[in-house]
Amino acid sequence: MESAANRIAEIEANIARMCKPARREPQDVTLIAVSKTQPADRIEPLLEAGQRVFGENRVQETQDKWPALLERYPETKLHLIGQLQSNKAEEAVELFDVIHSLDRPSLLKALAKAMDKAGRRVPCFVQVNIGDEDQKGGCRIEELPVFLTLVRDADIPLAGLMCLPPADTEAAPFFAFLAKLAEGHGIVGEQMGLSMGMSADYETAVQLGATHIRVGTALFGVRG
Ligand SMILES: *Cc1c(COP(=O)(O)O)cnc(C)c1O
Repeated sequence: MESAANRIAEIEANIARMCKPARREPQDVTLIAVSKTQPADRIEPLLEAGQRVFGENRVQETQDKWPALLERYPETKLHLIGQLQSNKAEEAVELFDVIHSLDRPSLLKALAKAMDKAGRRVPCFVQVNIGDEDQKGGCRIEELPVFLTLVRDADIPLAGLMCLPPADTEAAPFFAFLAKLAEGHGIVGEQMGLSMGMSADYETAVQLGATHIRVGTALFGVRG
């Protein structure tokens, strides 16, 4: 496989290419390198190549893997992209710089309490169950207006909306729908984001307004 630096450069070039027709700026798109299941020695080449934003989906795995890497690359930002249990909220608030999976009132309550305790406010994306799939996390679309009011009242920094479209379907309509939901709920402007797009569809996501793309396989190769 080509070098880590080459893979990053290739994705960044694709981001820039998709930004152009959409009249967007490449620096408004954050590439999150999804390092879940990857051992430290697979992550290090990306750190050495300058990548500083990583995504993990498990609290325990992050606790095991990242402290040693963070010691050497302290400016690295960690994003939690997986579902979070309320009883792990305190650990999550300590470990992560951004959380992408805020999706229910019980978790909101646990995170607000954990942030108060830690004296640290972690921006959170509200995950939307964009394909209305029973087995998936995310706030149901019809519950989104009420949930967003709860988030705003809870004094948790709202980072934007996140989605994970149904597998094996064209993602574009779901990305467009998420963007529309964000706009309809006043989630627009500088601080606001759309976390959408993975290895297979990040280019489409960028075209449709993604500010955060979560890319694993295209950077690390297929997960073992
Ligand atoms: C694993 C994962 C990704 C990355 O998927 P790839 O197809 O490997 O790029 C992105 N988002 C979430 C929520 C994930 O769990």
